[in-house]
Amino acid sequence: MRLAVRVKDLVKRYKNFTAVRGISFEIREGEIFGLIGPNGAGKTTTLRIIATLLRPTSGEVSVFGYDITKDAEKIRALISYLPEEAGAYKDMTGIEYLKFMAEVYGVDDSSALDKAIEIADLGPDIYNKVGTYSKGMIRKLLLARALMTAPKLAILDEPTSGLDVINAVRIRNIIKNERNRGTTFLISSHNMLEVAYLCDRVAIIHKGRIFEIGSPEELMRKYDVDNLEEVFQRVVISVEE
Ligand code: ATP
Repeated sequence: MRLAVRVKDLVKRYKNFTAVRGISFEIREGEIFGLIGPNGAGKTTTLRIIATLLRPTSGEVSVFGYDITKDAEKIRALISYLPEEAGAYKDMTGIEYLKFMAEVYGVDDSSALDKAIEIADLGPDIYNKVGTYSKGMIRKLLLARALMTAPKLAILDEPTSGLDVINAVRIRNIIKNERNRGTTFLISSHNMLEVAYLCDRVAIIHKGRIFEIGSPEELMRKYDVDNLEEVFQRVVISVEE
C-alpha cells in the first residue's frame, strides 16, 4: 500500500493562536479521505498546508513521498486544490477560463478540455461571462478546473458547498469516478450524508486536534449510532465537556 499523504505531528500557529495542535494521519493512494469538524476546527488550515500554500509551524507533511517544505514544486505538479471560497476571472467566459487554465497547467490534451466542459455541465452558459454566473455555477466551473488535469491528489475544500442537491449528487459521482481512474481525494465537508457516501475514511478534527479516524461504518459501530452526524455530535460534545 502506497501513501498519498503523510501528516505527522503537524502544528500551525497564526501569531498567538494555535489553529492546528499536533495532528497526524495518513491517506492511502486511491482513497477518498474526509476531514470533518466544526467551524474553525482547522480543516482549511490543514488542507492549505498539504497543498503547499501555507507553511507549517512544525511537524512533517509529505505528499507521494515528497516533503512539502523541500519539494513543493514537485508536489504542485501532482495535485490540484479547490479553495473553499474562490472566484474565477469575471471577464472571461467559462470556456475561456477552462482553456486558459489548461494552458497554465500545461494540459495539451483536448480530451481533458472536453472532460472539463462535461464536468462543469454549464450547457450554453459556458459561453457566457463568469461575471454572470451564480455561486453554484462558479463552483462547478472551478471543480471542472480542479479535475481537468487528472491530478494524482485532489484537495477539495467543501466541494459541493452552494450546490443544489442535483448538482451535489452529480459532483459526488464524478469524484467517485475520478477516484476509480486513479485520483486520490482529500475533501472537507460539513455534509455528513455526503461524507458517509463518499469517504473511505474520515478524520474528525476539533479545536486543532484529531479525535477519531476510521471508516464511517467503523465510527458508527464504535458509537453505536446509525449515522455519521451523531458520531460527529458525540465527538464534539465529549470534547466540550
Ligand atoms: P470552517 O468550517 O469554518 O471553514 P475550518 O475548520 O476550515 O473552519 P480554519 O479556517 O482552518 O477552520 O481555521 C482554524 C482557526 O484558525 C480558526 O479559529 C480561524 O479563526 C483561525 N485562523 C485561520 N486563518 C487565520 C489567520 N490567517 N490568522 C489568524 N487566525 C486564523
